[in-house]
Amino acid sequence: MRFYQATTFLFPRSYERRILLVCFGAVHVPLIACVVFQAVTGHWQLDTLVTLLVATLVGTGLGLAAIHALLSPIGQATTMLQAIQAGERIAVIPQGTDDLVGRLLNGVAIAANETAARIEQLVDAAERDPLTGIRNRRGFLDSAEQILRGRSNAVLALIDIDHFKHVNDEFGHDTGDVLLKALARRIEDHLRRSDIAARWGGEEFAVLLPDTTLDEARLVMERLRATVALDTNLGVQDRAVTFSCGLAPVRSFTQLGEATKQADAALYAAKNGGRNQVHVLGL
Ligand code: GH3
Ligand code: MG
Ligand code: MG
Repeated sequence: MRFYQATTFLFPRSYERRILLVCFGAVHVPLIACVVFQAVTGHWQLDTLVTLLVATLVGTGLGLAAIHALLSPIGQATTMLQAIQAGERIAVIPQGTDDLVGRLLNGVAIAANETAARIEQLVDAAERDPLTGIRNRRGFLDSAEQILRGRSNAVLALIDIDHFKHVNDEFGHDTGDVLLKALARRIEDHLRRSDIAARWGGEEFAVLLPDTTLDEARLVMERLRATVALDTNLGVQDRAVTFSCGLAPVRSFTQLGEATKQADAALYAAKNGGRNQVHVLGL
């Protein structure tokens, strides 16, 4: 470590060049010894010196190329660490042998991928609702930001189970939980792959339908509403449960807050209109 630190002044930002410089000096020791010896004895043998010089230069060139190649795993290890810092996964893990550099390379590759997997798990856990397994509000907003990039014709649907409190009161909290899980599954099964659903909180769900008009979204949610209203397999004994839904157009991610207020107002109107209905403000 001391020699490493003592030589940092040579090439402070290039470890590779420092090794090359040290080797370059070492390779020239026989030539320097020969020159010193001939200077001391006064017997100059130019042909020997030239041969030694050429051999030294050729040896240096080959040595430098070989060292450069041998150091490439360290370069790869550094690149992998930079990739993991940028949150990327290492697709192809380079294989080193059982020597010092090989072990370093394998260690970095394994650590990098384990870290990436752990970060993915943490992000996933932070963005999922533990009860239903679908996105939570945070996961919804994260996905919505990506989906709405460059899009301007999406629809937000807010869904709220009707009289959910009665379910809890009459059948118990566990039955309420079963219903939340069952409805989350029904919602996800009903949507396209490009749509996203989330548990917005309590017994409310949010759905984002990209590239969809209000009329189309209304049809989709109306079909879901009708299906759920007839479904007696939602875990509340053999009873069906209904929900109310408010819709609002979403023109951009920055406008999503405004769209949420509109969808909420539409949902409120659906509740006031007698529940078990899909409502769009102004229609
Ligand atoms: P409305 O038709 O007006 O929406 O009536 P509601 O009874 O569905 O609405 P209200 O807001 O009065 O009740 C929502 C209930 O949801 C109250 C709360 O205890 C319950 N709840 C919230 N989160 C959970 C949960 O994770 N599990 C269960 N079982 N109940 C929950
Ligand atoms: Mg509610
Ligand atoms: Mg409710």
